[in-house]
Amino acid sequence: MIRELDGSVHPTHHWHRLDDGRVQCDVCPRACKLREGQRGLCFVRARQGDRVVLTSYGRSSGFCLDPIEKKPLNHFLPGTAVLSFGTAGCNLACKFCQNWDMSKSREMDTLADAASPASLAEAAAGLGARSVAYTYNDPVIFLEYAMDVADACRERGVHSVAVTAGYVCDAPRREFFAHMDAANVDLKAFTEDFYRKICGGSLSPVLDTLLYLRHETDVWFEITTLLIPDHNDSSREIEALSRWVVDHLGPDVPLHFTAFHPDWKMRDTPPTPPATLSRAREIARANGVRYAFTGNVHDPLGSSTYCHGCGELLIERDWYALSSWNLTDDGHCRYCGTACAGVFAGPPGQWGRRRQPVRLADMVPHRWTAPRGQSNR
Ligand code: SF4
Repeated sequence: MIRELDGSVHPTHHWHRLDDGRVQCDVCPRACKLREGQRGLCFVRARQGDRVVLTSYGRSSGFCLDPIEKKPLNHFLPGTAVLSFGTAGCNLACKFCQNWDMSKSREMDTLADAASPASLAEAAAGLGARSVAYTYNDPVIFLEYAMDVADACRERGVHSVAVTAGYVCDAPRREFFAHMDAANVDLKAFTEDFYRKICGGSLSPVLDTLLYLRHETDVWFEITTLLIPDHNDSSREIEALSRWVVDHLGPDVPLHFTAFHPDWKMRDTPPTPPATLSRAREIARANGVRYAFTGNVHDPLGSSTYCHGCGELLIERDWYALSSWNLTDDGHCRYCGTACAGVFAGPPGQWGRRRQPVRLADMVPHRWTAPRGQSNR
């Protein structure tokens, strides 16, 4: 029996019927084959009657105003605020998940906040956020809701940012990213072995997503790899990853190497030493990556942007706050005029490193309940 929250069940169309009576979800390569009442691995997509539905439409596990650098996106409207939200569930099963309370949630009560696309977009605009981020758990599993929010945001001049593992099939990938302006894609490792054993997934669809974003869209994207001691942090693997990025995506895609902390099912693995992140950054730079960063550690040198033309400091960051800025309003180096890859629009934002929880119910005049099975576009 699919438990429903008011208005949260929404029709979907990426599925097909199988000869044996099951219905297959076609959103991600997991290809869940469902009998009546069953949920997919992501938990939020489920079979109801003869179709697959999304059961978390219009529900959120919470909202927060963050610096865009926290997503992390270092070259997309730097210094601006982003309204972050997520839902529940995930289509990967990473043993190291750093957001497992949401991504592994089997309690739909986690989704305490109701938010129509319009009210969410209005709240973002009212709070001065330049973007909304679909984050905490992977938005491809709730793409119908994310796309409706993105459309409502676009009408109000608010951008949409996907924080995703990119583990998605071709047709939904195209549909989803057509609504996005920027993305941070988790490239969890550079071996199929890691994806299979640690994440319960596969590397190649993620590479397909990166190739698609680079060659078939205008979506600005950056890549994050969480380095886990003895699992994906060898110099050889980082070198292979960096080379693939430069050869297939070009030198301008920023790479973030971030620190793991023991969590979920990998509590016995030690945290990533800062020296590992610095080594990874140097390997990436030596292989031609122009913008390589360390993350989740205090490292002003490793988290700042330098001009690939003259080497001068362009954007200095201290944690998520900007501490110096040497770009023109259209993103060129003030010293030598070289263009810095990214999306820059005027002077940097002044949001700083604040993190401000938001209660959407306080922002909108009434609590929203969608008619069952319909969106509120
Ligand atoms: S999106 Fe969910 S239900 Fe669909 S195939 Fe992936 S894990 Fe299964």
